Order: sequence, then structure tokens, then C-alpha cells
Amino acid sequence: MPRFLSISCLILLICTKTSGQISNYRVYFGATRTQPQQIILRQWQQNRETRYLTVNPQTLKTAVVNLPASAVQPLSWPQIGQQFNRTPYLRAWQGEQQRDHNLQDAGLERADTTERGFSLTIDLCPSHKPLDRSVFEQLIASFEPEEKPVPVTITITGLWMESHAQDLAYLKGLANRGDLDITWVNHSYHHRFDPRLPLAVNFLLEPNTNLNDEILLNEQAMLSNGLIPSPFFRFPGLVSDKAVFDRVLTFGLLPIGSDAWLAKNQQPKQGSLVLIHANGNEPLGIADFIKLIRQKSTAIRNKTWLLYELPTSVADASEK
Ligand SMILES: [Zn+2]
Repeated sequence: MPRFLSISCLILLICTKTSGQISNYRVYFGATRTQPQQIILRQWQQNRETRYLTVNPQTLKTAVVNLPASAVQPLSWPQIGQQFNRTPYLRAWQGEQQRDHNLQDAGLERADTTERGFSLTIDLCPSHKPLDRSVFEQLIASFEPEEKPVPVTITITGLWMESHAQDLAYLKGLANRGDLDITWVNHSYHHRFDPRLPLAVNFLLEPNTNLNDEILLNEQAMLSNGLIPSPFFRFPGLVSDKAVFDRVLTFGLLPIGSDAWLAKNQQPKQGSLVLIHANGNEPLGIADFIKLIRQKSTAIRNKTWLLYELPTSVADASEK
């Protein structure tokens, strides 16, 4: 009997481990047939279902949906361009084509300039150090009750997720509790970096980089961890060239830079994409940010200085 039990436990363990597994993950373009129409960016198999990652072309919000084939209209990317031409998502994507030249900080670096505040982006590059939880505690303490949940954008790497399960659970807990509204952004799986190499052959520009893996493996890791990838992408090191930038666009993604990297002393403006690192490697930027929110406490109470959700901010900017 004990032997039978242990075998059934083993089978159960295998089943729970594999039932949620993602397979056949791929770039897939299309639209849902139901209204309001959503654009489809990815397709995969999970739990014997065909699942899709969709983006709302008006709000830039993404979702994971399980749809029968009859509810899906397959389209080429140029057909999506025609059909959703006037939507904020397509306008933002078209705007990116003019932002592909810089070696550093290409992509969208400022959104809606009429905002009374900015969007906060926090990078989780691979790190051996624990998550800097103080920044999240300070954020919640400073912005609630004026903003609850507090909107933040977190860019995440596969290697960070592999070694920080408890920190990731902590962040998901803050979101589940209604303290944070997190926009999750792909920051590549490995985020390779060699301090001896010049930027032109570093990060994703390192020879032999498999861009497909860097993007799609990270999205799968995000989904396996219960995170829904947004339509944004942040280049590791904020480094790209025209070729790699344009390839990222072919995945339907919107690269984001930053015009206010606090550790580099760049001050936030209205609609800025502010950048800090909470992976334990940038205490200066975190200290600057905490100082900044303390200085602004009266303005936060008066709601004249706020944090903005990135998808909405980009959608609003594309309509101006
Ligand atoms: Zn990074």
C-alpha cells in the first residue's frame, strides 16, 4: 500500500508540473472576431488549449485568452497595419520606426507631455543581490491613498526570475493585494553584458546573439510565472542598432528607452519615462528616487505630481 501511494504521488507531481507547460510558442499575428477586436501577437499550447497573447489596440493592454480557431482571423503584419491603422497601438508602432537610430536609448523615451507626472520604470537585470524592496515600500507609502494601486512598469529578465523566486512572489503579492498595478516588460532572457567590450558589440549586439530566444524564451518564462507580457520591450543596457531595433519591431513590440535615468542625474519632466534599478546594483538611483518622492510629498497629496500607467500614457501620447 505505501508503495502504491508513493507511485500515485509521483504521478500527481509529474502531472501538476507538466500540465501548465507551454509548448509550440510562436509569433502569430491576427485579430479576434469578437468585438471589441483585439490584435493577436502570440500563440501557444497549454493545458490542452490553444492560447493567445492579445493587445487591445486602443488601450495597449495585453491579455491571455483561450480561443477556438473559429474566433480567430489570421492576418499578416501588413494587414494588421491596414486594419488597425488609426489605433493608438499602430500609431505608437509606426512612431517607433523613426526612433531606431541611436546606439543608446533608442525607442520611446517620453510619452504624454501634458501629464502632471511621469511613468516609473524599474529594471530587473540579472543580479546576485536580493530585490531592493525599500523602493516599493516607499512608493506605496508615498502615493497611497492618492494612487491605489500605484502604477509601475517593471522590466524583467529570465535569469533574474530563475534566481529570485521569493522576490518575484513578493512583487506579485503587492499586485494581488491591490498596492501595485504592474506593467510587465520583456528585458531579454540573458541580458548578456561584457564590461570589456565596446557598446557596438555588447548586450544584444554581441555576435551570435539569438534574438528570437532572447525575446520568446523570456515571454514564456514570464507567462510560466503568471506575468502577462505587455507590448513593450526594453533593450538590455538601452543599447541597440538599427538592425536589431527593426527586428524587435517585427515581433509587434514597442521598444522603450528613458529620458530620465536618475542615477545619471537626468531629471524627470512631464511624461518622462523615469528609470531606476531595483536589482541591488544601483543604490544611488534608488536613494535619488526616494529623496525625490519625499520632496514632492505635498504635490502628491494635492495630486499635482502623480505616477502614470505606461500603456495609457503611450496611448494618449499617440493621439496628440
Ligand atoms: Zn538591464
